[in-house]
Amino acid sequence: MIMQTEGVEGTMVTFAGGSLQESALVVFTAEVAGEWLVVTDRSPFHPVSLSWPDQPGDHGWMICGTTRFRVLDSREGLLNQRTGVLSVGEDARALKRSDPDLTSVVLHVTEAAPTTQAVSLQVDATFRAALSLQHTGVHLAALALNQIASGFWSKDPQDPDSLGAPNLDMAAVTRSEIREDASTDHYRFGKSLRKKGFDAAEFLVDLPARAAEVNKALRGFLATPSPITLSPPTGPIAERRLWATRLNGADVAMPCGGTHLADLANLAEVTVVMAQTEDGFVMRTCSWRTPIG
Ligand SMILES: [Zn+2]
Repeated sequence: MIMQTEGVEGTMVTFAGGSLQESALVVFTAEVAGEWLVVTDRSPFHPVSLSWPDQPGDHGWMICGTTRFRVLDSREGLLNQRTGVLSVGEDARALKRSDPDLTSVVLHVTEAAPTTQAVSLQVDATFRAALSLQHTGVHLAALALNQIASGFWSKDPQDPDSLGAPNLDMAAVTRSEIREDASTDHYRFGKSLRKKGFDAAEFLVDLPARAAEVNKALRGFLATPSPITLSPPTGPIAERRLWATRLNGADVAMPCGGTHLADLANLAEVTVVMAQTEDGFVMRTCSWRTPIG
């Protein structure tokens, strides 16, 4: 679906800084296939990404004066800043992201059209917190996986992760699904990975043992609490953001477009289970929050 807009610019998003509420101005509204899509100049909502839809879009509310409308979902849309054409869904996915005219907007999927231009946007904090917990756990699990898989590489890593291990996660992950209770990452062991020197067959021989090693590494990571940052905290959606913390006394960072916990101390436990698939394996990661008080 494509729509013509006028005077709309990319949405400034504040979710990376942990924001759950913003005052904003509605700049575009359209009814598409029975849904209301509302674009604002600014938003605390984390929208589901078009290019890497691992973390679902935030839910919440849009407040117009004394009326509260539900925001059922939030998604990324692509706006051509030169022509004003806004693409959503499949039409947006078909666009080349390298086009310098393109910028991203948050599409708030609301139950009704806004009744005022000035609105207050409120994110469902419980849903956001659950996704942030699982997303942080997934990053730690990826680094733990890289670490325990480092012995299965016969060649020196060309692109090590920030702990110095060959980045198996980056080289093999094909899909990641972050949910409120757990996350599932799909890894594919293809020809190119074997050419790079990874012994996939040997790795897959004993997946329960691999998972136990990952879980041990994860316990080690959580032994030393450290703040977690996503920077910059505010900016256009498509801007490159960096997730950073300290693990085992070393600074670690990786690019990330999602939301996270504020400190490793908030994580009580992260555990994984692995299962073989036709072309690799899936890793399911469950994270638990430290009880408050
Ligand atoms: Zn991430």
